[in-house]
Amino acid sequence: MATFTVLNPATEQAVTSVPLVSAEETDAAIARAVAAQAAWRAVAPGERAALLRAFADAVDAHLDELASLEVACSGHPVGAARWEAGNIRDVLRYYSAAPERLLGAQIPVPGGLDVTFKEPVGVVGLIVPWNFPMPILGWGLAPALAAGNPVIAKPAERTPLTAIRIGELAREAGLPDGVFQVLPGKGSVVGQRLVDHEAVRKIVFTGSTEVGQQIMAGCARQVKRLTLELGGKSANIVFADADLEKAAASAPSAVFDNAGQDCCARSRILVQRSVYDRFMEMLEPAVKGVRVGDPASADTEMGPLISAEHRARVASYVPQGAPVAFRGSAPDGPGYWFPPTVLAPVRRDDPAYTEEVFGPVVTVVPFGDEADAIAIANDSPYGLSGSIWTRDVGRAIRVARAVETGNLSVNSHSSVRYWAPFGGFKQSGLGRELGPDALDAFTETKNVFIATEE
Ligand code: NAD
Repeated sequence: MATFTVLNPATEQAVTSVPLVSAEETDAAIARAVAAQAAWRAVAPGERAALLRAFADAVDAHLDELASLEVACSGHPVGAARWEAGNIRDVLRYYSAAPERLLGAQIPVPGGLDVTFKEPVGVVGLIVPWNFPMPILGWGLAPALAAGNPVIAKPAERTPLTAIRIGELAREAGLPDGVFQVLPGKGSVVGQRLVDHEAVRKIVFTGSTEVGQQIMAGCARQVKRLTLELGGKSANIVFADADLEKAAASAPSAVFDNAGQDCCARSRILVQRSVYDRFMEMLEPAVKGVRVGDPASADTEMGPLISAEHRARVASYVPQGAPVAFRGSAPDGPGYWFPPTVLAPVRRDDPAYTEEVFGPVVTVVPFGDEADAIAIANDSPYGLSGSIWTRDVGRAIRVARAVETGNLSVNSHSSVRYWAPFGGFKQSGLGRELGPDALDAFTETKNVFIATEE
């Protein structure tokens, strides 16, 4: 059987080998999911809720183990990895309240009673990237299960370990056979089969815009339901009236978190011209102070990149002669390290400015007035996230309404909060995850009219 060797990105040592599931095995898993479907949707709402809570408790009881797996396989700093394991627990708990609240409507009509039902959509294929293996799994998994659907998850090739373990924990918590399966394997094999197979009724894909476009085309052939969470090139807009110290101190974590391998990374900092020099003076020590190193150490803030190939790709955005304003540090020796890097001034057609680098590289550009800031922020095919720093409430609201992006934070860098909807404008995605409405993405609305006339 073909296998994939998982490497520790901080040491380049092999962690373990994982079997690569074939197309035939994917078909067998889809058949098991179809077989489980009727029984899962028939589980009484309160019981389904209890199973989700038991699943969350099992994750909670194995938090340290899951975090250690993510440190070894993804190079995430242990503090972040613990948060990520806690996030999947919390998202399972949040949606455990949903089965008992899956409300339809009763609509006034002449001659009878009109009611709607939210029916499970069917088998859900969840295709997950390598950058946040646990949270992204949870954002699709929890509402899909809560709505009564079986789920097949395909983790990214390089980072399957936490998903495999979470699949085992689901079984231990009592989820019936076939309700949640994890298939480690290649995108071109397992992922493609989930897209192509008629019995899979919904795809949730998080990954690159390029692969997302192929998946959208594949789903179109069967009018398959689809949620896409794709790339980003988000703006962090700093106005002259902002708390500049706070804006500068927090800007590094807003882009270098997870070594910049974050779809929500604020990788374009836009600073009002009148405070540009002061902002850069304050940004420099903040960038140089980012603690880059051993992800297993509790005080590490930034770990390595995921792979040698990815590091080469990130490095290609900072060629010889690139306008490096200043850089942080990174360890020598084994590991796919890349120092936090600030590029300024940059040309507005520099690929480091226009493309998603997905590494610890940020560009800083000045702007004139509010209209200029909005125009620059919107000059991107992406629209996922962003931040606005100002003390003027009216301006904060005007700019928040004008920036074409799905998730904005004012005077902070919060992006994904499971209580609120998350997703992108433009080429950053399609549909929304999380928040109170997520069940709509995993159900079909059925309308039933019942005549009452004699
Ligand atoms: P990727 O597109 O290469 O892969 C994502 C997943 O798709 C992997 O599991 C991969 O195996 C699978 N895949 C690849 N080809 C496939 C195919 N033909 N059919 C079906 N599945 C296939 O992305 P990546 O490099 O793993 O992740 C990085 C990208 O993900 C970045 O662009 C980032 O912005 C994006 N991302 C977006 C969000 C969001 O919520 N918007 C979150 C995290 C990451």
